[in-house]
Amino acid sequence: MTTAIPPVVKPSSQAIVDLDREYVLQNYGRYPLALVRGKGCCVYDPEGRRYLDFIAGIGVNAFGHAHPRILKVIREQAGLMIHCSNLYYNQYQGPLAKRLAEISGLQRTFFANTGTEAMEGVLKMARAHGHSIHPDKYEIISLENSFHGRTLGALSITGQPKYRSDFEPLLPGVKFVPANDIPALEAAFSERTAGMVVEMIQGEGGVLPLTPEFAAKARELADRYNALLIADEIQCGVGRPGTWFAYQRSHPVILPDVVTAAKPLGAGIPLGVIIANEKSAAAIQPGQHGTTFGGGPLACRVALEALDIMEELLPSIERVGGYFHVTLNELARKHSFVKEVRGFGLMLGVELTLPGKQIVLDAMAEGLLINCTHDTVLRFLPPYIVTEKEVDQVVKVLGKLFAKVK
Ligand code: PLP
Repeated sequence: MTTAIPPVVKPSSQAIVDLDREYVLQNYGRYPLALVRGKGCCVYDPEGRRYLDFIAGIGVNAFGHAHPRILKVIREQAGLMIHCSNLYYNQYQGPLAKRLAEISGLQRTFFANTGTEAMEGVLKMARAHGHSIHPDKYEIISLENSFHGRTLGALSITGQPKYRSDFEPLLPGVKFVPANDIPALEAAFSERTAGMVVEMIQGEGGVLPLTPEFAAKARELADRYNALLIADEIQCGVGRPGTWFAYQRSHPVILPDVVTAAKPLGAGIPLGVIIANEKSAAAIQPGQHGTTFGGGPLACRVALEALDIMEELLPSIERVGGYFHVTLNELARKHSFVKEVRGFGLMLGVELTLPGKQIVLDAMAEGLLINCTHDTVLRFLPPYIVTEKEVDQVVKVLGKLFAKVK
């Protein structure tokens, strides 16, 4: 007797949303859209509608969707070994750590799973570094308007009250300084400073680059007070700015002691890293830190492939990003409610004098995915494979929407 195979049921957008509302913790203010598949720079909803994806999973999907080289290594490695824990060595951590050392100018990698987890580890590294010098050397300097993640440690160094206020008190010993304010930075540093954390381009803060003068002063003060200079490159790094890391855009390069990275590194497979120089790495002793999942063979092998693809794409990120910047500036000149176009490479923001939420929703209705950060900044984090032609499509949609703004 044969049993009939039940048909594959494809849920509608509404069914997906309804089930989420009933059973999923309602901690996200999601857009009213469900996505089921993607190809290149486009994604599709269950009803088959196509969207040009210029937010790329908040900067994660570096090669868009279903990139053949990424699919190939995922398939191969999933058939061999996905996870083996850090009780044992796996053959991909070493090569990936070597590659990260080469591209960053630093030495040693700790493998985590997310950006926030990398930030937690780096806070422990800074504290351990400080303690190795003096028990009172535990202070961290961070920037106002920054974002470093949602766990208690990462929130403690996040300089935006809206993320923090419901969870206080947070870690003691954190000082916030306004970005690009050199006198405030000088006043904040002391012998008690164990580390300073910066985003070279503040992402959630509204795509705001640090000035090279401020970054250079942070380097100088960190050296003077033997504190670790930590660059959070989770959003602004790993190819997105057109260089491997945003700190490499200044001449001469302002090399931090430690870098954290995540988002695009695993091309969609969760992976976060801390890349440290020998001095910072020496602060962490065996047994002081660890993770079950971090640095598994699947994630590390995919990241190695991702870095190879990115290396080929760096010139195109710079070229298409530059074209996008210029085209956005041309559009901005036609509309008085556009204050500024900012960013580097394929991390761009358009600051408006009004809230951007409705423009994001209207763009979605036109088949374009972007988002809005800091209420008034339209943010673009497209995949690295994006072309000038796709940029033209985006700017055309924006032009149409901007023309309707009252
Ligand atoms: N740091 C920065 C600069 C970020 O933009 C983010 C996320 O947006 C994080 C840290 C947290 O990373 P994750 O969401 O992977 O934990």
